[in-house]
Amino acid sequence: MIPTPSAPSGGCQCGAVRFRVDGPLGRASICHCRMCQKAFAGPFGALVSVQVADLTWTRGAPAHFQSSNLVRRGFCRDCGTPLTFEWSEDVIDLAVFALDDPSAATPVVQLAVEARAPWIDHVAAMPVRAPSGPPRHVVSRQHPDHHVDDWPID
Ligand SMILES: [Zn+2]
Ligand SMILES: [Zn+2]
Repeated sequence: MIPTPSAPSGGCQCGAVRFRVDGPLGRASICHCRMCQKAFAGPFGALVSVQVADLTWTRGAPAHFQSSNLVRRGFCRDCGTPLTFEWSEDVIDLAVFALDDPSAATPVVQLAVEARAPWIDHVAAMPVRAPSGPPRHVVSRQHPDHHVDDWPID
């Protein structure tokens, strides 16, 4: 497939698995179900649907866990980043925050609210902790939010 200029791309934290979407991003959702909480080890999963035919794994490929009889979930076997929710031959859901630009997919609906963490409703009202002490020099090993030909760098 011919890469589309500015096609949405993304990947895992360590960069062993990278993807590109040569087509539109579909509807994005967040799911509070216990399985998404566990798979993302977070309060909810944020997922966006794309056509399987539009998705190219540009580096590596996800490993999978068959989380139910109906769904398998893709993740990076090296760093553990959740990447996919696979439930259909034609459509695949990608983890929104695995995108290089997560703002490209704004969730518009939430699922499984019966399992929603009760504090979710209060996040905006939480006090904000200011940075304390001098800034520390961080050397990130996280893959940058764009394609690079050679990775890892060192
Ligand atoms: Zn990885
Ligand atoms: Zn779920």
